[in-house]
Amino acid sequence: MSTLLGNLFILAAPSGAGKSSLIKALLAKTPPTGANPLQVSVSHTTRKPRPGEVNGEHYHFVSHAEFEALIAQNAFFEYAEVFGNYYGTSRITIEETLHQGIDVFLDIDWQGARQVKKLMPDTCGVFILPPSVETLRQRLEGRGQDDESVIAKRMAEAVSEMSHYNEFDYVLINDDFDTTLAELNNIVQAQRLRTHKQQLRHDALVKALLA
Ligand code: GDP
Ligand code: ADP
Ligand code: 5GP
Repeated sequence: MSTLLGNLFILAAPSGAGKSSLIKALLAKTPPTGANPLQVSVSHTTRKPRPGEVNGEHYHFVSHAEFEALIAQNAFFEYAEVFGNYYGTSRITIEETLHQGIDVFLDIDWQGARQVKKLMPDTCGVFILPPSVETLRQRLEGRGQDDESVIAKRMAEAVSEMSHYNEFDYVLINDDFDTTLAELNNIVQAQRLRTHKQQLRHDALVKALLA
């Protein structure tokens, strides 16, 4: 059992299912500081920035050579090749944030999720499914940030990503956005209230009550 107060969450889904939008909306509900802080981990990637993506905010955008140097330094908690690019989660950031009692969300693919579950079995994995294949395509097109060949590649990968849904603790169908957001929020709240986390958080109270 983890003795870290912070909870680690993974959100995985086929591209376009709504991970980034859900995490963004969840963060807006839960400020990064305060009683129950929550942060999203900013991955490193070799993919090129999309219009409007900011280095250090959406991703740390690095070259192939820089990414490989980071792998050699054991800087990644997990990394994987997705759609022909490297993506990885910084080890030090995750460990330091969880130690501070801050909950961390990882927006990572199933390969990374497997690695994280192995390293930290206490991690809560959530998989997002779209309500239909057609809706997934419409969302990828509607986002308007990827060209036709990139969308085709992501649609082709969607079934293989979705086939891993049953490796996760929770599955949400992102049909109505606000409903899915409320469901995700419920999962986060329930994770925080697990007995071993409450024991850490309320150690003094439990000792006083049982004295
Ligand atoms: P989007 O999901 O369509 O917005 O596309 P992205 O380019 O943001 O992400 C591409 C894929 O890489 C997704 O499957 C992500 O879950 C995955 N991904 C992002 N960051 C990481 C990471 O740090 N590690 C791993 N293993 N996968 C990641
Ligand atoms: P991901 O991060 O999984 O690739 P995004 O969060 O970028 O997905 O969502 C893809 C697109 O679908 C975005 O344009 C987003 O606004 C839209 N979207 C997400 N969830 C819903 C929903 N429940 N209903 C309608 N549109 C949605
Ligand atoms: P995008 O290129 O659309 O931003 O992301 C594509 C996919 O890469 C998404 O499914 C996203 O979850 C995944 N991804 C992003 N960052 C990471 C990461 O750090 N590690 C892993 N394994 N996957 C990631």
